[in-house]
Amino acid sequence: MKLICIGRNYADHIEELANERPTDPVVFIKPDSAVLPKEQDFYIPDFSEDVHYEVEVLVKIKKVGKHIDEKFAHKYYDEVGLGIDFTARDLQSKLKEKGLPWEKAKGFDGAAVIGKWLPKSDFEDLNNLNFSLLKNTVPVQQGNTGLMLWKIDELISYVSRYFMLKKGDIIFTGTPAGVGRIQTNDYLSGVLEGKELFSVKIK
Ligand code: ZN
Repeated sequence: MKLICIGRNYADHIEELANERPTDPVVFIKPDSAVLPKEQDFYIPDFSEDVHYEVEVLVKIKKVGKHIDEKFAHKYYDEVGLGIDFTARDLQSKLKEKGLPWEKAKGFDGAAVIGKWLPKSDFEDLNNLNFSLLKNTVPVQQGNTGLMLWKIDELISYVSRYFMLKKGDIIFTGTPAGVGRIQTNDYLSGVLEGKELFSVKIK
């Protein structure tokens, strides 16, 4: 199982990190070992002083697909969810400066929080989902999937040109503005359309 992650998919987040607006989706992969086991606390790794949360809408792939046409992309997933793409921002900045791959900053153990899944049929329009991340019960990130530069079906079509999608793969669709540093004893929770789908304690 692989985690296919999209970077820079919300204009407001591109602005807050002073990144260039991409002409194609920015894609990276986290290994399956990055998944934080259910109910486990997240331990800030010793190689970073600046781990950021990034809340993202997730899509779970249900069957094998390659070169998927955008109009058939909806046939490849039934479930949507919410998670966190933890990022060692200090390490990522160093790697980016040198033009090196981000993997160490994004793919380390526990760097992917995956919440509960909901059937997509629960929602009228996947391109109009409100979601938020709360830190110590205060909302710090709020997004709507309608603000994505590339929508879910476009992303599935795009990434399947490069990576064969397999059953159980998960797509992280990018984060809106409001990313920030975590500290020991923080408590994060993620809400999609009014339903809490995950919570995680920071150690
Ligand atoms: Zn992200």
